[in-house]
Amino acid sequence: MKRFLSVLCLAALLCAGGGCQTPPRPPSPVLRGAEGAPTAPVSPAAPVFSVTSDWADVPVGELEDTRLLALINGEHPIPDGGVPFPTVSAYQTVPVAAADIQMHPRALAAADALFARAEAEGFDGFFIASGYRTRDRQTQLYEEADDKAYVQKPGHSEHQTGLAADIAYTGIGQAQFGDTDEGRWLAQNAWQYGFILRYPEDKRDVTGIAFEPWHFRYVGQPHAAYCHDNDLCLEEYLQLLADSGGFDITLERQTYSVFYARPRDDVIRAPGAERCEISSDNTGGYIITVWED
Ligand SMILES: [Zn+2]
Repeated sequence: MKRFLSVLCLAALLCAGGGCQTPPRPPSPVLRGAEGAPTAPVSPAAPVFSVTSDWADVPVGELEDTRLLALINGEHPIPDGGVPFPTVSAYQTVPVAAADIQMHPRALAAADALFARAEAEGFDGFFIASGYRTRDRQTQLYEEADDKAYVQKPGHSEHQTGLAADIAYTGIGQAQFGDTDEGRWLAQNAWQYGFILRYPEDKRDVTGIAFEPWHFRYVGQPHAAYCHDNDLCLEEYLQLLADSGGFDITLERQTYSVFYARPRDDVIRAPGAERCEISSDNTGGYIITVWED
């Protein structure tokens, strides 16, 4: 059984993908999936890293590339013809603005955990206003936008990966979101579930996008934690990794080791550890994240 919640003020939380083009829209219904609905397949709270196993040369074509840290912005589009990012329906897992909203399964699982925590703390009105977008949908948004400066071109929107979500709260308009207790709670807690506030107010010069307190991007722990702790946007974080080679970080008694690698002859050094994830960064590098029990 689905419960339909009315929304008093859901103003067009349709972020055009970094550069949220936001024409006023009428209130929309919010759908909430059935209780006991199947949980998303991947836990967002899994991460933990440190290195023990042997490293070996691995052809990049043989890597299991999560692409969770892929940089998608005005300069770095989603590669044409690449393997599509995986997406799943969101409405049976989290409250959504429309029944056809899809998300990357990792981002969806993280949103589910984040919203559960919010509800436990008295914030029970969060929902997903926009998730995955097809290239055609992004093209439509771009072509419809009066001011192209606030809309990413097709191929340059994080929403096309399913890893970005515009998060709203029942009864709160988009323009006010960042100035409410709900919006502040989200900004202060989303990182614990692997999300970064993708376009912070003070990073416009770096991201090229104005402050969007509703647009969150899943990158996973411990990356979101490091960005939060060190006040870094994704562009800065990936540059820091490339410059420094990596870091260790401990979260809840779990230590992660994060390494940056650039392929030589299409080969990188990678650990054989089971608890290891590798993501390309869409600028030619790879981030290796390792953890132990
Ligand atoms: Zn957005």
